[in-house]
Amino acid sequence: MVGREGRIPKEQFTGFQEVMRDLAKDMGEWAFYLLLAMLVITLWKRFPYKTWRVVHQAMPVLYLMLALHAAMLAPTDYWTQPVGILIALLGAAGIYGALYSLAGRIGRARRASGTVTAIEQPVPDVLTVTCQLDNNWRGHRPGQFAFITFDEKEGAHPFTIASADRGDRSISFQIKALGDYTRTLGKRLEVGHAVKVEGPYGRFDMARQDASAQQIWIAGGIGVTPFLAWLDSLQQTPGQVSADLHYCTRDRTNDPFVARIQASCATLPGIRLHIHGAQQGETLSAADVAAAQTRSSRSEIWFCGPQGLAEKLKHELGRIGQGRFRFHQEAFEMR
Ligand SMILES: Cc1cc2nc3c(=O)[nH]c(=O)nc-3n(C[C@H](O)[C@H](O)[C@H](O)COP(=O)(O)OP(=O)(O)OC[C@H]3O[C@@H](n4cnc5c(N)ncnc54)[C@H](O)[C@@H]3O)c2cc1C
Repeated sequence: MVGREGRIPKEQFTGFQEVMRDLAKDMGEWAFYLLLAMLVITLWKRFPYKTWRVVHQAMPVLYLMLALHAAMLAPTDYWTQPVGILIALLGAAGIYGALYSLAGRIGRARRASGTVTAIEQPVPDVLTVTCQLDNNWRGHRPGQFAFITFDEKEGAHPFTIASADRGDRSISFQIKALGDYTRTLGKRLEVGHAVKVEGPYGRFDMARQDASAQQIWIAGGIGVTPFLAWLDSLQQTPGQVSADLHYCTRDRTNDPFVARIQASCATLPGIRLHIHGAQQGETLSAADVAAAQTRSSRSEIWFCGPQGLAEKLKHELGRIGQGRFRFHQEAFEMR
């Protein structure tokens, strides 16, 4: 339609209100462009994680800019209608979250301090670090992870707690040299080193298993860490869980975890262990997983390992499994 007939008349503002509206308009526009830029660098995996993490902290500021934009530019009569009430409620919740984040309060109640009590290097690229934490640590469920700060300048890194909770606030991590920081960590750490831990977080939790479904657990490389904690915690109640555990490794003869998993499973009659050494020609296939399915009913797969292996198994199991497999995956990636 051409012309101005039928259009809602523009609201008239003067003075301070007009200045605020102009400001909110500009802020909204800038926040929108910056949000698009954030989206691009988040999806662009090659963008360095450390820089991304710093830039990402601006998200609450962008949210506040957009909230101001919406509050100042929404037509006045919106605020008496359901849509306005919805915007106000969502906006208030978001503003609370943004201010909470900017005040540095996220995770504060879950922070504990401690010291490194043991360091081992079973193979050159894996470090076993045990820490004793203070009374602020509330314990963890097997399979959960925590953010560990060994060095304030470096900041926190997420690692799975690879031991069960024994109520003594001692936790251990298996850290693989996957990047710049983790490659040099062995040289920087010594017994007595101060550590800060924030957590626990995560839902790769045995308590979430469906007891009526057959359990298939698949670990690939360092993705074995949540299963180490599961096996550790099962030692307290052997025989309680029945599962097939597949551990995929490059070379079963030089693997730092094979002996430990075998020893754990030896005392757990319900766990059937399958080791797959790629160099030994034992690569895990979807057919192996499906073959282990003894009941015609559903199976639950709990997976932690390389993304490529997850994609391959999901794809093939989707084809041969006809919806009988429910896939749970722990990703060792934050974006
Ligand atoms: C929930 C979870 C559990 C994990 N558990 C384990 C474990 O038990 N054992 C283990 O060896 N590894 C684990 N990781 C992976 C581990 O966090 C990264 O390997 C490590 O942070 C890499 O750091 P870097 O500086 O050496 O590597 P870089 O080369 O700097 O980074 C490699 C990649 O690691 C990730 N990364 C780097 N720094 C951080 C950070 N501060 N926070 C989050 N991610 C980061 C990014 O995806 C980045 O692209 C886990 C990751 C997650 C998300």
